[in-house]
Amino acid sequence: MSTSAHFIIENAKIFTSDPANPHAEALAVKGNRIIYVGDRQGAAKYRSEKTRVIDGQGQTLTPGFIDSHVHLLWGSIWMGNAQLQEVRTKDDLKKILLDFAAKNKTDAWVVGRGIRYGIVSTRHELDEILADRPVYIGAFDGHTGWANTRALELASILHDDGRELVNGIIVRDESGLATGELREGDAMSTVMDLVPKPDAHRKRELLKLAIQEFNKTGITSVHNMNGDMDELMAYAALEDTGEMSLRVYVPYHVKPETTEEMLSEAVEMAKVRMDYVRGGAAKFFMDGVWESYTAFNVDPYADEPDVKVEPIFSLEHFTRMAALCDRMGLQVAVHCCGDGAVRQALDGYEAVQRLNGKRDSRHRVEHIEVCQPADMPRFRELGVIASMQTSHAPFSLEEDMVWTKRTGPQRWPISFPWRDLKNAGAHLALGSDWTVAPFDPLINIYVALNRQKWAPDDPDQRLTLEECIVGYTRDAAYTEFMEHQKGQIKEGYLADLVLFSHDLFALPAEEIRTAHVVMTMVDGRIVFE
Ligand SMILES: [Zn+2]
Repeated sequence: MSTSAHFIIENAKIFTSDPANPHAEALAVKGNRIIYVGDRQGAAKYRSEKTRVIDGQGQTLTPGFIDSHVHLLWGSIWMGNAQLQEVRTKDDLKKILLDFAAKNKTDAWVVGRGIRYGIVSTRHELDEILADRPVYIGAFDGHTGWANTRALELASILHDDGRELVNGIIVRDESGLATGELREGDAMSTVMDLVPKPDAHRKRELLKLAIQEFNKTGITSVHNMNGDMDELMAYAALEDTGEMSLRVYVPYHVKPETTEEMLSEAVEMAKVRMDYVRGGAAKFFMDGVWESYTAFNVDPYADEPDVKVEPIFSLEHFTRMAALCDRMGLQVAVHCCGDGAVRQALDGYEAVQRLNGKRDSRHRVEHIEVCQPADMPRFRELGVIASMQTSHAPFSLEEDMVWTKRTGPQRWPISFPWRDLKNAGAHLALGSDWTVAPFDPLINIYVALNRQKWAPDDPDQRLTLEECIVGYTRDAAYTEFMEHQKGQIKEGYLADLVLFSHDLFALPAEEIRTAHVVMTMVDGRIVFE
């Protein structure tokens, strides 16, 4: 007597991410678990009249994708603002903002998200579009915002009142008036804090919408890269009502002003271990981004050598807080775009190991846009995970002039060094950093497979398709201590699966985006098909 499966998927090209058994053609699912992986005949033994049999039609089936870096709740709320990702000119911006303003007449504010750098830089440019309502637009990377005069007046920052910000710069002209450009969190908050927040009902609706969109692209888990108990509870509420279809790992955001006592919130979050929603980590920011001259670098900026950047945490401050987190069993993740920030995070982790002893802590560095060669082997030595998002890399020299200008040709060979870090033995976890970049894994994989060299002598940093899938599944599961539960198609593992429209391995690298997801399963339930 054999057990009856709820699902059998047969005739698929299964890539399991299991190094001991990388390929299979069929599998069986019972409840929320995979109960069989192998050939068609073997799967047939689990078939009964209650079993739904899915024909994979010879296409690729992989473990569900785990995006190791997203901003889920933030992003959902973004979805309720004007979407500026496709804006390329001031005219595009004008059209979208005026259209959005007309459709949202009862909202006092006009807020837009996702704009590239270099399209507007002053309040006057926004005043020309709309002057009688407060306007705020945020850069795609969340590190810079621009406000019109009305918004600056409402925030009482048009005139310099001598206020000091911990983390942020209100850019001012020679006469002391705010230009409209707001760099980093505290500066953006002066204006953003005035924008009415969506109410709980609206938030929940936007969140459900975002989760559905994730499922459509094959994403079954995310690491939400900022958060607190409130945010964790927003996800938990969806799980309670049976409406959750995305596993969410939620760290606690440690800010420079966070005290040691406040870390108890992170400890409380770590106790939440539901099927879909889990705490257990702490997220820091060591620096900002290259584009706005807030990345903490080893050598001066190529285009503004006089700019001097200080890290958000001193080495002593970071080490003290990270050591506390480590002692409480929390995983630490730290945003580092500049090579100076990467180095300081590694120095901090090394100091934490000396203080607390070496344990299986799997601390992580996020982004790593530039990394000094001497620091690359330290990831393996310290057991630190490289969490990287391939779409951040300028695809070609023409595609992103700002980033490549800031860093300059001398740094290009050590920029977005996925290949070099992997070769140096780092665990490479892939993700998108949505809303900074699109979450669709096939878009991010396309960049990883096809990124061009910016100069002929730059090293080739491209990854293989197999490495991309492993980075999005097995290594991402390892990154959240879930490698024995998910990230591989293996008997006993969670039934988080994704079936594609094509045999991905048969597609030329440049055509990978012609494929799409046809079925996503989470916890043994089909959530998209
Ligand atoms: Zn991020």
